[in-house]
This record gives sequence, C-alpha cells and structure tokens, in this order.
Amino acid sequence: MAAMAVVAITATERAAFKRCRRAWSLSARVRRGLEPRAAVRTAEHPAREALAVHYFPGMWSWDRAIVRPLVLKAAGAASPYVEKYVDWASGIDEFEPLRVEFDYDAAIPNPRGDGDLATPDGRAVRYQGRAHALVVEENRTQWLLVHRFGPWTDGAVLRLDEAAVASAWAWEQTFLDARISGILFNELTLEGRFRRTRLRLAPGALAHAGRQLAQEAAEMLDPSLALYPTPGPHCPACPFLAPCALMQDGQDAEDLLARDYRPRPPEPLEEGRLGGATWGMGRGAVPPRFANDDR
Ligand code: SF4
Repeated sequence: MAAMAVVAITATERAAFKRCRRAWSLSARVRRGLEPRAAVRTAEHPAREALAVHYFPGMWSWDRAIVRPLVLKAAGAASPYVEKYVDWASGIDEFEPLRVEFDYDAAIPNPRGDGDLATPDGRAVRYQGRAHALVVEENRTQWLLVHRFGPWTDGAVLRLDEAAVASAWAWEQTFLDARISGILFNELTLEGRFRRTRLRLAPGALAHAGRQLAQEAAEMLDPSLALYPTPGPHCPACPFLAPCALMQDGQDAEDLLARDYRPRPPEPLEEGRLGGATWGMGRGAVPPRFANDDR
C-alpha cells in the first residue's frame, strides 16, 4: 500500500503566514508551493556545522584536544570565529548533549474536533523542522539549545521566540516520553560576541504553544481563508513582489507565475539526515562525514 502523502508546515512557513497571507499562499506547501525558478538555497551560517561537531554526543566525553581539530575542520574559513566560541562556551557548557541537529515531525491536533489535521484532499499535515541540540543538565532536566546567529535580541523578545518553543513542543509530540524544561538561547553575533540566555518554560507553556500552532495550522488549511496581502518593510525581500504588484493592479498574475516560478522541491535530505535524527545518541558513534578522520 502506498504511504499516505504528508505535507509539512515549518517554522518558516508559519512566520510567512503571519507576515503576509498572499506571499504565504503562493509559497507554502499546503497551498500553491511555488518558488522563483532562479531561487537559490540560503546557506547555513558557516559555524552551524562546526557547532554540531563540537556538541556531538558521541564525542562529548573525549579529550577536547582531540575534538577541537575536528570542530575547526568543519568550520573551514570560519575557524577563528568558532575557536573563539569554543573557548567561551567551555566555561558555561555545564550540560551533556543528547542530540545534535535532530529532526522533529509532529502530528498537529485538530483544534476543532478529534484526530489530527489533514488537508481538504486528505493529506496528513505535520509540523516539521530541525533543532540544533538537546542537552541534559546534572539535575536530569533537558533543554533545547538554540543557536541564533545575528544581533543580540532583547530578553523580553527572546521569550516570544515561538519557533523555538514550537520546536520543543514538536519534540515532545514526536517522542511522548520527552520532557523539555526550557530553552537555552545561544546568541552569536557576526562580530564574535556570544551570549546565553535561559528561558525556563512555565508549566503548560508547551501545551499552550501546541494549541496555538494547531489553531494557526487549521486556519492555513481553511479553503475559505482570505488571502489578502500585507504590504510592509518585508516586501523588498519578497520573492513574489512582481506578481503581487500585478494583483494589486487587479490583473491576472497566472502567466507570470507559470513563466517565472516552479513547484518547490521537497526539503533536501542532508548527509546523515535519513531516519530523522542526524547524529543520534550513541556515545561512541562518529558523525558520518568525520568517520574517516584520524582521531
Ligand atoms: S510583495 Fe509584500 S504584500 Fe506582496 S506578497 Fe510579497 S510580502 Fe505580501
């Protein structure tokens, strides 16, 4: 029997939905799922992979003098930056990593009835994404470690990072015995300043986040949802600026969409990503791409 088709909602799509329904409806996979034919994938921050090596559970107990060259190799040209981070983090990393770069895949409950959400044509809808790291502290509490590359964010705004909280919710949904106590925000500025902020989740916060996500996802699936535009400072970066301008003039943008846009391909699978948990929990395993390195 063929596997039931699944359509994913991601944190990026959720943010797009709240920013502008017109742009979202053109790009979201639960809607038209388009992207410019000339679209280029945005590269990850060059330090991200190196941090995954640094926090790789299977090497956490190794002599750091052995791990450091592997971390710097993964960092490539960003190695001075990453080395500075590693030195800084060594003083505050009072935990043990359980997972790095792991995928979550959560069924979204139907807020208006029983069961889980599905598209009008019957496809299952999942909240999917990838988290940076899950760590456990000495008191056995588990925390999501979330890297934020860019300028520091005001603490009050950090508390509103719904993508981070939703990923914690999704992880508990994916593994029902998981319990996440909070988020460790790991802020890394481009100039090489680092800061860590602890957000302890209130009791019920994840359940509330899940209900909120479910409400929004149900709206996304509503065939009668009004798809109005929301012009604003985000428009210059919008990949649908040209068809949007046509629509604003009351014109048909379908020819332009057919000519300059294509269906979005599935999310690319990355090395080691098959199976959903990239560099799992095994204490002795080596990240696949470093398996041949001298240790
Ligand atoms: S250009 Fe602005 S208003 Fe138009 S679809 Fe894009 S984000 Fe929305």
